[in-house]
Amino acid sequence: MLSTMQDDQLSLADLLRHGSTLHSESEVVTWTSSGPRRATYGQVGQRAARLANALRGLGVTGDQRVGTFMWNNAEHLEAYLAIPAMGAVLHTLNIRLFPEQLVFVANHAEDHVVIVDGTLVPLFAKQLPQLKTVKHVIVANGDPATLEAPDGVQVHAYDELLAAQPETFDWPVVDERSAAAMCYTSGTTGDPKGVVYSHRSIWLHSMQVCMSDSMRLDQSDKALVIVPMFHAMSWGMPYAAFMVGASMIMPDRFLQPEPIAQILAAERPTFAGAVPTIWQGLLQHLDANPQDISHLREVVVGGSAAPPSMMHAFEERYGVPILHAWGMTETSPLGSVARPPASATGEEAWRYRYTQGRFPASVRARLIGDDGNEVPWDGESVGELEVRGPWIAGGYYGDADPAKFHDGWLRTGDVGKITPNGYLTLTDRAKDVIKSGGEWISSVDLENTVMSHPAVAEAAVIGVPDEKWDERPLVAVVLREGERVTAEELRTFLQDKVAKWQLPEHWTFVEEVPKTSVGKFDKKRLRAAHAEGKLDVAHF
Ligand code: ADP
Repeated sequence: MLSTMQDDQLSLADLLRHGSTLHSESEVVTWTSSGPRRATYGQVGQRAARLANALRGLGVTGDQRVGTFMWNNAEHLEAYLAIPAMGAVLHTLNIRLFPEQLVFVANHAEDHVVIVDGTLVPLFAKQLPQLKTVKHVIVANGDPATLEAPDGVQVHAYDELLAAQPETFDWPVVDERSAAAMCYTSGTTGDPKGVVYSHRSIWLHSMQVCMSDSMRLDQSDKALVIVPMFHAMSWGMPYAAFMVGASMIMPDRFLQPEPIAQILAAERPTFAGAVPTIWQGLLQHLDANPQDISHLREVVVGGSAAPPSMMHAFEERYGVPILHAWGMTETSPLGSVARPPASATGEEAWRYRYTQGRFPASVRARLIGDDGNEVPWDGESVGELEVRGPWIAGGYYGDADPAKFHDGWLRTGDVGKITPNGYLTLTDRAKDVIKSGGEWISSVDLENTVMSHPAVAEAAVIGVPDEKWDERPLVAVVLREGERVTAEELRTFLQDKVAKWQLPEHWTFVEEVPKTSVGKFDKKRLRAAHAEGKLDVAHF
């Protein structure tokens, strides 16, 4: 029997219509070198309609791809809304990709138009001659004359182009399963892979982001969106915030601790999200230049493991709770969120909050052990995490990559354990695990423990070859400014905190841990530096 419910399609055109009318007074604030620039959601809606008209005028029809090469700002939000709502596909290009990867993804997605921020024109111009399908470049927040276009490519000024257009658009009805947006994984191994989100997946994911067991966004919030909009759909924040009328503060290119602290002081956001390295940097800045940040009701941290020491520092020194979450580009990205069960208090609640979190109803999870069989959720057995659900990728664009999928489940490449009540603890990425004498050593655990030393700003642990044990951990340490501590002292500090056989005997002090394009520890580069003998290592 079929239901008697209306078969309305979930569509980003409806999300745009809703946010720009019912929440027309909410704001998007873009940070600039001369302070904030403000636009209401009503204005964003009108400009999105103008952008859609302009793109039609440039020949964008059907599901053609429109790329963005932009910081987080109001224009990027307009593109986020207009492109999918008109039935085309938004392709967010990662501005920090290696040139050959950028060329690969733009050609692979066959981008027809690319919108580029003025400050990024010099970077983009270098690759443009190799982008085979791009016919139009629109320069936002800058001077289009600075871009020398190859033959066959026209350059436009964003504001001028929009000014000439009507401020309404006849948004089409699209199949909710059709493509709305795409994002390539950063491709730490092999070519980047295209994840294509649907109207339905984005809609459902946005609802989840706002739910009280997730980020709890509502119209009273002002969300500081630090996660780049080119990275995993900015963790769902722009669409979710627009859906419920939460205002957004966009930092544009001002991502260093000092301007972030200025933005916090000026705009007093209630919510923010970013990877741990951003918060570690801010913490050091705040410790040296204290300021009130208690306006932040909560901060979501994910992308890599949030060190417990950092969670305590924010909460105890600044009154700001950190909410730990796990996800991937392939999972839209929200996969699990670490809100403790209502019954847990004190230390027990903290233990839950350190985990990668609990799965929402729409994300199903299982752990697969070394022998290919499922391992139980007993909080101890370890396996590779596999997930499925309506906002989890079931394949890649133009590339099935069967190795990443297993009977319809996404293989995450993350290794961990799950408690009977569904809390996930990741011990490692499959490619980062350290196997010593047949036993696993969790690099994440070691990193968190070393980072709990007050003199340590960052610590990354990799496995290095060892004749006797196959592999042993090597710790790369970045000290806080003005601090001094020896490898021996750190090893002593660890003695009563980790099992004896896990105690690392290889230590190195570095100025900075190499980072990926989205600010995570780049262990591949660290391993290469070690293999090439570039690290000065102390051995015990
Ligand atoms: P990349 O592979 O380039 O990092 P993603 O941004 O999609 O691309 O990263 C997803 C991966 O990030 C996950 O598979 C996991 O390894 C890691 N990750 C995300 N959130 C967390 C977290 N809270 N704790 C530990 N690792 C995390």
